[in-house]
Amino acid sequence: MPTQSKHALLSASGAERWINCPPSARMEENFPDQESVYAAEGTLFHELCEIKVRRLLYPDRDPEVLKLAEEAVREHELYSAEMEEHATEFADWIKNRYEGYLIFDQACLLIDEKIKFDKYVPDGFGTCDYAVVTSSGTIEVLDLKYGKGVKVLAKNNAQLRLYALGIATKFNVAVAQFAEVLTTVYQPRLGHVETEKLHPVYLDGWGVSIRGVAEQAHAGQGERRTGDWCRWCRAKGACTHRAEDAMSNIGVGALNPGVMDDQELGSCLHIAENLIHWARDVRDEAENRAFSGKKIPGWKVVEGRSNRVIADKDKVYRILLDTIPEREKFIKPASLQGITHLEKHIGPKKLEGLIGQYVTKPAGKATLVPETDPRPALGSPEQTFRGVDLESASEPRN
Ligand code: SF4
Repeated sequence: MPTQSKHALLSASGAERWINCPPSARMEENFPDQESVYAAEGTLFHELCEIKVRRLLYPDRDPEVLKLAEEAVREHELYSAEMEEHATEFADWIKNRYEGYLIFDQACLLIDEKIKFDKYVPDGFGTCDYAVVTSSGTIEVLDLKYGKGVKVLAKNNAQLRLYALGIATKFNVAVAQFAEVLTTVYQPRLGHVETEKLHPVYLDGWGVSIRGVAEQAHAGQGERRTGDWCRWCRAKGACTHRAEDAMSNIGVGALNPGVMDDQELGSCLHIAENLIHWARDVRDEAENRAFSGKKIPGWKVVEGRSNRVIADKDKVYRILLDTIPEREKFIKPASLQGITHLEKHIGPKKLEGLIGQYVTKPAGKATLVPETDPRPALGSPEQTFRGVDLESASEPRN
């Protein structure tokens, strides 16, 4: 029997990309799957959460195995007090969520569950972080996200929908026969927990509706389309379609002679931002090729600038101590680390308890962002009244 590769061609996590740009699935096969430091950090967080959840819910099962696994996580260079705190909170949170179901129903909690959704997506399989299935027919799938750069929404989330379809398949029950489906994102570093409630018939229809595009993606066919999903595509720095799309914008069109008006400046800024992202991806791709020994015509690899470093700090320290009487000439004054560092090493909650009253958050520097950004515009009523407790400020009602 052929062994299943670790990652599906049409993975649930890549669904937004391959649904919008079906040929990207096969194109990605030509590029190495390099794990970023953020992905590695996320994997470590998932492991720590799983250990804590298992220990909390099933304290008698494999305590020694869990202890060893936990020690390994804590020795990892990406482990932090912040991660510990978020994992502890998550374990409590999911225990409460699960026990909430148990009040009314029989229910099972699936952890890190291997699932298949190949009824809808050719060779579709994956691993669902957590899922609860109840005897009255509720499925809730829960996905952990440790990143804090992009808020992940539960609404219209193709990854979570595929997980829910996979969980139904696992129970050999057509999804439409369930009573309700909930898909939840838990993103602790943004304090973001969101659930989408789906009618099972709708979810089944959605699964059927993507089958055609999934077949195209599996066959490497369909139309390439650029969009936000390109940032997760392994081909992003080499894709000719994205390059054409980026460069087609360079011929901005006729501008009025002289100075750009506000309308023209706004349009050019959209294009410039897009070009900056694309340019960075093209450079990464070219560097990957060049550093792996390929010749990129018109370019060469040289030694970059470097700074002098003290090779043996202890020895140098002792020499200076013996010969230079004024210590301030060679020792930096001790100073406090920044809040991000303190949170990472002490934990956000503990830090808040210790020094919260001394931490203030000044108004942020004015920043120009596209109108689609979710933050309210400076000076708008939403921004002015954000955080104001209008209810407690109002006169008591008789
Ligand atoms: S970079 Fe964008 S357009 Fe190109 S294959 Fe990837 S997802 Fe499709």
